[in-house]
Amino acid sequence: MSLDAKIPQGPLAEKWSKHKFDLKLVNPANKRKYDIIIVGTGLAGASAAASLAELGYNVKSFCFQDSPRRAHSIAAQGGINAAKNYQNDGDSVYRLFYDTIKGGDYRAREGNVYRLAEVSVNIIDQCVAQGVPFAREYGGLLDNRSFGGSQVSRTFYARGQTGQQLLLGAYSALNRQIHAGKVKMYTRTEMLDVVTIDGHAKGIVTRNMITGAIETHAGHAVLLCTGGYSNVFYLSTNAIGSNVTAAWRAHKRGAFFGNPCYTQIHPTCIPVTGDHQSKLTLMSESLRNDGRVWAPKTVEIAEQLRKGTLRADQVKEDERDYFLERKYPAFGNLVPRDVASRNAKEMVQEGKGVGGSGFAVFLDFADAIKRLGEETVKAKYGNLFDMYIQITNENPYKQPMRIYPAVHYTMGGLWVDYNLSTNVPGLYALGECNFSDHGANRLGASALMQGLSDGYFVIPYTLGDYLAKIGPKKVDTSHPAFEATKKDVITYINKLLALKGTKTVNEYHRDLGHIMWEYCGMARTEEGLKKAKGLIQALKADFWKNAIVTGENEEVNASLERAGRIADFIELGELMVDDALMRRESCGGHFRVESQTEDGEAKRDDENFAFVAAWEFKGENQPEVLHKEQLVFESVHLSQRNYA
Ligand SMILES: Cc1cc2nc3c(=O)[nH]c(=O)nc-3n(C[C@H](O)[C@H](O)[C@H](O)COP(=O)(O)OP(=O)(O)OC[C@H]3O[C@@H](n4cnc5c(N)ncnc54)[C@H](O)[C@@H]3O)c2cc1C
Repeated sequence: MSLDAKIPQGPLAEKWSKHKFDLKLVNPANKRKYDIIIVGTGLAGASAAASLAELGYNVKSFCFQDSPRRAHSIAAQGGINAAKNYQNDGDSVYRLFYDTIKGGDYRAREGNVYRLAEVSVNIIDQCVAQGVPFAREYGGLLDNRSFGGSQVSRTFYARGQTGQQLLLGAYSALNRQIHAGKVKMYTRTEMLDVVTIDGHAKGIVTRNMITGAIETHAGHAVLLCTGGYSNVFYLSTNAIGSNVTAAWRAHKRGAFFGNPCYTQIHPTCIPVTGDHQSKLTLMSESLRNDGRVWAPKTVEIAEQLRKGTLRADQVKEDERDYFLERKYPAFGNLVPRDVASRNAKEMVQEGKGVGGSGFAVFLDFADAIKRLGEETVKAKYGNLFDMYIQITNENPYKQPMRIYPAVHYTMGGLWVDYNLSTNVPGLYALGECNFSDHGANRLGASALMQGLSDGYFVIPYTLGDYLAKIGPKKVDTSHPAFEATKKDVITYINKLLALKGTKTVNEYHRDLGHIMWEYCGMARTEEGLKKAKGLIQALKADFWKNAIVTGENEEVNASLERAGRIADFIELGELMVDDALMRRESCGGHFRVESQTEDGEAKRDDENFAFVAAWEFKGENQPEVLHKEQLVFESVHLSQRNYA
């Protein structure tokens, strides 16, 4: 099967405008005749549901939390990018496009990324109109700060809680439509399968997480806005509930999975303290605007710091190595995340790690406090500092933070074309759930931009084209495909409930996480990946033999919910390993040890790997089939990334 990304022809800057004109429209009276299912109420899902309902479509919206506003997007801290150039510092749509393509190590589509940069400016206007309280500078204009991989300030923010404020905006817009009767909201409802009829997505099967009722819902299109899958690593900065089930089940119904191995490891997280932890905490990239990353110059000093016989503030200036500033003077502490993470790891490998475990470097605010004063630093980052104090019982106003890379975001996801359609007609994927715009490494503050671009500004146009083509003929759940899919879901739930072994599903999750982090994490080798594949296959076999799932379906059953999600993570883990094995090059967050430059940077192989990997499910325990979407670069020149 050939993959058609449907990138419009013509000059880069005109593609989206031209495409919007070429797309078919549904007239206002006909919009009422279409039912749209939207799974997920994070920034992507809430913005899509509000926009489509506002247009007049009937929307059914689903989330597994008790309120749409508890979606994981609420956790986003640092900000959202937009090419407004309010700072007059040389930004433009083209520069945002260029930074994003380069940041993604030339593994994203030019057309998609340009559109993202183009609509970024509209997002800010939309959010301001909704009342999102972005930070402002003294003149009253919106303030900006910098994020990694750029030399301009284009990140809009609301202290360290930008995601929460943006989600409150989208959630308010969604609520308005719920109140108007255009959106029917289903909370505490987990989507477990997609229903297809004649190859088109026509609905979903869900489980009511309170009663266990298995229900079917029909619609003219299904939009998955179900977030990323970082929790395949067990420990990540994502919310505990974030999972891959919706995307994975859709994959098993025919939707291709794009670039599954592209994972982002964020450089500034609070280090792991032991096996008791179930989640990690991010210290936003925005902190690198003012915080300086360093490690001691010698192993001896590092040892004293680890033992606690020396405090960080006692280390003399000339005994500190501000390694990012030293190696990358042009971008300094604001190099992209993959670069910063690898360098922190290198310091630790050289024996210069700090903190009790030795798995940390410093993020120091002493200079910023001297320059700006503690009050200003508090005003900018206060809630992040508070979080750090609560978790570590250390005061970052007095001592530098200890930070270390942790899994944070997944650039991979369901393969979609320019219209955000998966290869299954009628099935769309938005936000972190799709693979689309970030290539092999996402730049900071670009996920919120992409989620809102997809939901507010792309899908309202592209979905109409599909709907106009299929027509408004009613779809309902009486079609036998609904009953058949529901039966599959019930059979699967019963299979999980029949697991009466001795090992909890959580333990399997932790084991999987260890394998993934060790062999498919920050550095990957052919040997390690092959080993990981065997380990995951053995883990899967063991899961279906020795796991224990307690309780029944007809009740609130966290054990059952978890079991389904972890079974999916195990399968996804194997595909990630296959993808990482296949990609014998390094790019962005995918670092194959065998493919590095003399300086230890990621070395791409453009001749053989400038493609999107889209994997097709072929049946249980069957190898998946790889489809390649060749990436075409007409505007940017492919070169070795250089931030020095
Ligand atoms: C700690 C942290 C800080 C971050 N800070 C930033 C930042 O400053 N800037 C930035 O750009 N990005 C940031 N990111 C990334 C960004 O927050 C996410 O990529 C983005 O919010 C994802 O939004 P989403 O709408 O795609 O998915 P989510 O917000 O994850 O929403 C997923 C939705 O899907 C629903 N769902 C999932 N599965 C099912 C199912 N099977 N059935 C029913 N419902 C389901 C959930 O209930 C939820 O409503 C951060 C990420 C983390 C972890």
